Parts: sequence; structure tokens; C-alpha cells
Amino acid sequence: MKVAQVPSAGADFQIVEREIPTPDAGQVRIKVQACGVCHSDVLTKDGFPGIQYPRVPGHEVVGIIDEVGAGVSEWTMGQRAGVGWHGGHDGTCTSCRRGDFGNCVNMKIAGISYDGGYQQYMVAPIEALVAIPESLSDVDAAPLLCAGITTFNALRHSGAFPGDLVAVQGIGGLGHLGIQFANKSGYKVAAIGRGPENAALATQLGASVYIDSKATNAAEELQKLGGAKVILATAPSSRAMSELIDGLGPNGKLLVVGADVAPIEVTPIQLIFGSRTIQGWASGTPIDAEDTLRFAELTGVRAMIETYPLEKAAEAYARMLSGDAQFRVVMTM
Ligand SMILES: [Zn+2]
Ligand SMILES: [Zn+2]
Repeated sequence: MKVAQVPSAGADFQIVEREIPTPDAGQVRIKVQACGVCHSDVLTKDGFPGIQYPRVPGHEVVGIIDEVGAGVSEWTMGQRAGVGWHGGHDGTCTSCRRGDFGNCVNMKIAGISYDGGYQQYMVAPIEALVAIPESLSDVDAAPLLCAGITTFNALRHSGAFPGDLVAVQGIGGLGHLGIQFANKSGYKVAAIGRGPENAALATQLGASVYIDSKATNAAEELQKLGGAKVILATAPSSRAMSELIDGLGPNGKLLVVGADVAPIEVTPIQLIFGSRTIQGWASGTPIDAEDTLRFAELTGVRAMIETYPLEKAAEAYARMLSGDAQFRVVMTM
């Protein structure tokens, strides 16, 4: 089979031939049909604590189960299945015993803990599997398994009610999905972008207001609308996020999904008056992914995608990294 692997931290992609792997007990093998290229793949490409190389990235995987390991009864050969960021959990740690699998201390991540979807066949543990509905194509489903679930799951747990003002900061891979999910969830959506370029697109995706944070003070603009109940911060810029905190209404929440390493700046006063909060959100479990897919199926939410063949993994990855992709890059096998 053909595999796009990272030979060592920071090294260029290699396209190599490997033996097709065999699933162990509690695992299945997926014949990969599509795999999204996510910004978090930089962790595989550039290095992550404990990662072993060579490693195959990819955690937006959709395919067909073509082999099941011993003891697997819930999944069958020929069934469509996917794997997202949540690549497995131990079921025994304190978090798992509370049913909080997403915070498992031994959580596995597809494409980091084991080889992911940048290959023609991958092996995954059954607790990582996501059933794919018939009506969604492979390339449509793939980006919903990380970018989609992250924005949908964050929003549905945000505490915002239908009719509330929800701002989506950043109109990119995450943000263009966040706007759609927020709109279809019944929120009044304010999209916040830098520059006028994405105004028409934001409206088309379901925003009722577009705020150009280069031309205006976005926090003030949000206050003119009554203040945001939730600001879903998708663009990985702590500075941009910090500038928006004053745009939160009473009991408003800055919900952080864009991963920057710089600190967010906020004063206690900004949080105390108005009882504002800042919360981070990471993805979700496979059943959350299935909820995401069902919601997308019901409402027509889809990622805008650019596709590349697996052989062009390096090009696909570079395209994602450039920030110029409109908006998710998906590889087909
Ligand atoms: Zn991802
Ligand atoms: Zn656990």
C-alpha cells in the first residue's frame, strides 16, 4: 500500500510502500477513502512529546472497514467508518470512570499515537470509530471529523440559546464551519474577519452581521448589538482573541478553539464585571462526531474543500499551512 509518512520530526514527507497492516484484537482495518489535512498535523510533522517516527499523520479519516480483529462484534466488514482526533481511551482512568473519555489521561490521537489516515489502509481501535451516514460523501465527511466536531460540539455546549448573539472570530477552516453551525443552531451570527474580503462569503454561510476587525473596533461593534453571549474564537491569534473580550455581553463566554501558544491577555476586571468566562474546547468523542455528522446531514452544513491525491501529500500539507486554502484540504486515496 501507499503511505505518506514523516520520517523524523521536521523532515519532509516521504511516499513509501508498506505491507498492509493487520488489525489486532479490538481493532479494525479501514480502507481509507479520504483524509482531511488539519492544522494540528503540524504536531506530527514537526514533533510532539513521545511521538515515534516514522509516523503517518491524519485524523480526519473516512473509509470502509475491510478487516476486523478478534472480538470485534459491533463493526462489520464493508461498513463505512471514520476516525477523528479522539483516537482511543483506556476506559480505566479516573476521567474514563466518570464517562469523560475526552479527558482520558491515556488518550490516543490518530496520526500521533499511531499511524493515521495519510495512507491507503489504517488500523484503529474500535473505541475511536465513527459511523458515517450514507448521504455524506467521503470527502464531505472527512473534515467534519475534526474541524466540524470541534466547532459544532463547542457551540452546542456553550450555553447559548437560539436567538442569542454568537460571534465567530476567524473565517477559515474552523470558522467557515462555525458560522454555518451557529446559523443552523438558531443563533444570530456575527462573523469577525480581518479585512473586507470575506464579508460576502460570511453572509452566504449564514452570518447576519459581518465585522471587519481591521477597519473597526470589533468589541465595540459587538456591544452595539447588545454584546455576544458567546464568541467562538477560531483563528489562532491570542491577540485577536484578547481584543474581543470587551465584546462579550453579561455572562458572555469566550470559547477558544484556535490553538495559539501566546497568552491571552485579560484583566480580572474584564471578567468580574459582567461575569464573563473564558473556556477552551477540544474536539469530542466518536459519538459526538456522529452527532456532528447527523446535524450536518439534517441541515446541509458542509466544509468547503480542496482535494489532492495522496501522492501529493506534501503539496496538500503546504497548501493547508499557507492559510490560503478555501477552506479545508482533503486527500483522496
Ligand atoms: Zn484536527
Ligand atoms: Zn482514561
